[in-house]
Amino acid sequence: MAKRDYYEVLGVERGASEGDLKKAYRRLAMKYHPDRNPDDKASEEQFKEVSEAYEVLSDANKRASYDQYGHAAFDAGMGGGGGAGFGGANFSDIFGDVFSDFFGGGRGGARGGAQRGSDLRYTLELNLEEAVRGTTVNIRVPTLVNCKPCDGSGAKKGSTPSTCPTCGGAGQVRMQQGFFAVQQTCPRCHGQGKIITDPCTSCHGEGRVEEYKTLSVKVPAGVDTGDRIRLSGEGEAGTHGGPTGDLYVVINVREHAIFQRDGKHLYCEVPISYTDAALGGELEVPTLDGRVKLKIPEGTQTGKQFRLRGKGVAPVRGGAAGDLLCRVAVETPVNLSRRQRELLEELRDSLDGDSSHSPKASGWFEGVKRFFGDL
Ligand SMILES: [Zn+2]
Ligand SMILES: [Zn+2]
Repeated sequence: MAKRDYYEVLGVERGASEGDLKKAYRRLAMKYHPDRNPDDKASEEQFKEVSEAYEVLSDANKRASYDQYGHAAFDAGMGGGGGAGFGGANFSDIFGDVFSDFFGGGRGGARGGAQRGSDLRYTLELNLEEAVRGTTVNIRVPTLVNCKPCDGSGAKKGSTPSTCPTCGGAGQVRMQQGFFAVQQTCPRCHGQGKIITDPCTSCHGEGRVEEYKTLSVKVPAGVDTGDRIRLSGEGEAGTHGGPTGDLYVVINVREHAIFQRDGKHLYCEVPISYTDAALGGELEVPTLDGRVKLKIPEGTQTGKQFRLRGKGVAPVRGGAAGDLLCRVAVETPVNLSRRQRELLEELRDSLDGDSSHSPKASGWFEGVKRFFGDL
């Protein structure tokens, strides 16, 4: 396959400055980056082409050779095996340089080298009581483990991986680039020194298979929706000896039948009889620690909120427990007997015409009068 001109690949003039090259490369590499184009072969090829062009043109010596001899500058002295000579370690070098400010540095190589396993996320549903008191839950999470039939080698049982013909098993290849001999990770075997000719049927040559593992998660008291618990090293296994990723358990607290939660405070609505509201009384209200008695003064209006200090949630990050706020809702009596009706009618007659029994109504009617007056 004829190689495109490196300047053309990057879309820059032959005399482009170092800064222009970097800018052009960064733009194209971001566009074709494998992380952004998973399983897209065409993008992967373009990413390689762009990276190769940048690798050469960003190096003053290589650029000078290229300007003088073109692609031929790098063809001479290529070891047996053939194929494009770029790949492996050098990519990651460029990568670290150009992308460190994007991805926060510390990224592993794009090819071949040890790569850290991915972090995994698991959503853990809890009910309010569990979230408030804390709990220990067993969760089942998928994980990649060594394949048993091939013992992690990826080669079919009875067969063994054969020595890589490109590097002769060394995992590294020497390349002549202009005046320099460069040692690189073998592009064929990615530095393993071996290639699998007869892949294991269980893992398709990956050497790892997905399996479920059970983990015990200790959930501290006071967690809320969106809180995360990190289980270090319980994520996906790394490749080529890279470290394992982490597992993030993300808490989601289900809605409760009685309580609504807002941070450390709990809210609930308590129905109260018409007569208790008028005469005062004692009310039984629910808390997460059981029932408690709440004294209601006479003349309690609907919507009045009573605060039970410390009956809310103790925050997971420390500090005093929140409160439980009980909002009373006065209930209108229904299904009245004849006798009950008579009593209420008698009550109505006795209250009629005296606004001192209706603290809200008089103010409200004043407001309505003014409203119509302004119309
Ligand atoms: Zn090799
Ligand atoms: Zn296998």
